[in-house]
Amino acid sequence: MLLLRYCHTTRLNQLARGTCPETLAQAATIHDKQTKSTFSCLLGNVDITGNMWKQATLPVRLGGFELVQSKADQLIETGSNRDAARLRSIRGKGAGAWLDSIPSSEKFALSSGNFVLAASLRLGLPLSLPPWATKCECGKSLDVEGYHLLTCKMGGGSVWSHNSVVLCWSECMSSLQCRHQIEPKDRYTTSNNRADIVVFDSTCGGNVELDVALAHPWSQDILRSAATTDGAAARRREDIKHNKYSQEQLPGGYTPTLIPLVFEHFGGWGEEASTFLNKLSKLYRDEEGRNNPSDFKTHWRRRLSVQLQRCNASVLARKMIRVTYGQNTDQSLDVVQLSIQ
Ligand SMILES: [Zn+2]
Repeated sequence: MLLLRYCHTTRLNQLARGTCPETLAQAATIHDKQTKSTFSCLLGNVDITGNMWKQATLPVRLGGFELVQSKADQLIETGSNRDAARLRSIRGKGAGAWLDSIPSSEKFALSSGNFVLAASLRLGLPLSLPPWATKCECGKSLDVEGYHLLTCKMGGGSVWSHNSVVLCWSECMSSLQCRHQIEPKDRYTTSNNRADIVVFDSTCGGNVELDVALAHPWSQDILRSAATTDGAAARRREDIKHNKYSQEQLPGGYTPTLIPLVFEHFGGWGEEASTFLNKLSKLYRDEEGRNNPSDFKTHWRRRLSVQLQRCNASVLARKMIRVTYGQNTDQSLDVVQLSIQ
């Protein structure tokens, strides 16, 4: 995918700068066909047509794969509510960072199988489920777009995704020597709830609670808003978390200070998670001791984005195996990772 985007697609741009358009027309047509067939081949030879192809050609920041140029807003206006909500979510800041991630280590790379599943979610391509797989193990009907499989509470997939994103944030703070604790016990006088992470915030001289959540823009209660407003699902989840923590009390009668770290399943970042990463980036010093916030942000946007897509793909793969071969196929996520590589 990186070779296609960075080497093949750009070749014609270079030629177009110094060649008369009529001379280039035939080559440009062939070039477009090659781009399309290679992209389709990367996704397992699926037929990419109509709006899906239009979306694929958009820049990454507008929800595409940056293959050629076309219009994003038109797609949002002509699609269904689900399409519009998906397109709005994937054009959010940082949502497509996994596509720019150079696979220099395992943490920055997706297996081929995971790439196909993550790219299918991004494009709204149907999953290849067998005709007999119509119901989830929880009894609800399945949709070929993977919404139910991703969000179903049964089977532990959503907990695994959540926890792996928590660990990723923890790794980010450890890289800055930020002291923090994961799920500290007996913190509140009001309940046994545990924040995902508690970290000392030197700018305000106190501890802050971090709570990680993955929100899906297609949830029934948010779909309509998510189809018309960018980031609506993340915003709503942030409000729910603030409300929940405002009921808690710390010893001494203090109310905890919460920063919700919300991602939308398609990749969009919640406003407060972005602001928190900005804040952390100010603490970063490179090898020569200089503050270099943009390097730090790019690094962690990509790392978290790859992790989120890996979570989506692994959960989908695991559940697709269970609905296809039966619920007793109880494979761990690591085994699934291997079997689809
Ligand atoms: Zn289910």
